[in-house]
Amino acid sequence: MQRVVVHPDQIQPPVIHLSAQQQHYLTRVLRLGQGDRFIALDGRGHAWLTQLAAPELGHIVEAIDVHTELPVAVTLVAALPKGSGFDDVVRQATELGVTTILPVISDRTLLQPSAQKLDRWRRIAQEAAEQSERQWVPTLPAAIPFAQYLATLPDDLTQTPHYLCVTRQHVPHLLACLPPVTSTPNPITIAIGPEGGWTEPEITQAIARGFQPVSLGARILRAVTAPLMALALIGGAYEQGTVRE
Ligand code: SAH
Repeated sequence: MQRVVVHPDQIQPPVIHLSAQQQHYLTRVLRLGQGDRFIALDGRGHAWLTQLAAPELGHIVEAIDVHTELPVAVTLVAALPKGSGFDDVVRQATELGVTTILPVISDRTLLQPSAQKLDRWRRIAQEAAEQSERQWVPTLPAAIPFAQYLATLPDDLTQTPHYLCVTRQHVPHLLACLPPVTSTPNPITIAIGPEGGWTEPEITQAIARGFQPVSLGARILRAVTAPLMALALIGGAYEQGTVRE
């Protein structure tokens, strides 16, 4: 069934008001008519089976319980790569279940993204979440410098593991560092550098703030591949079905 993410303001049970763009999508693109059903999602964990009552109005049939989210909240802190590579990172990280994507400007990222870029990434995240049948559209704040991000962190990160992916260093593999899987896991943060890698001062500062340096294996991955490897490892570790308390 077709899925449409609506803004929480549009939901006024028992009806959902549809925007002009959503009306166009439902009635012109998908060719739904009066009485046809679709799934409305608020992108924040809730979903409703909805019947099209008029082009601009959906009638809520019932709330539905869907569980396609990862059992653990994962924040991806990603240094912006050059060009349009971040579009792919946003799309694929969303497919893999990321909760928040925080773009950061690192010493080796020269690019300060425009407001249009941010809108575009948010649109990509929403489309990818709909496609992957997720209940949660990843949060995507505006890019900030990596040093500024580090300054916002709480003092104690021992309960909320923060991993810094680094190349060419003798550090443990991410998979070996993940905490034992429980039924209420603490959120995880994973930071990936730009094409040129993190600078030494960035690595030193992040570790000083509580980040654990980790490896993703012996091969050097591109800045757009490394986030996918990290998210796939975390997703696999948490979704394999074994809950150990
Ligand atoms: N030019 C750098 C590589 C940068 S790769 C070099 O030659 O060393 C871009 C980012 O992806 C890195 O900053 C790191 O965060 C991540 N990355 C890539 N491969 C990795 C690996 N094998 N282990 C851990 N992190 C990796």
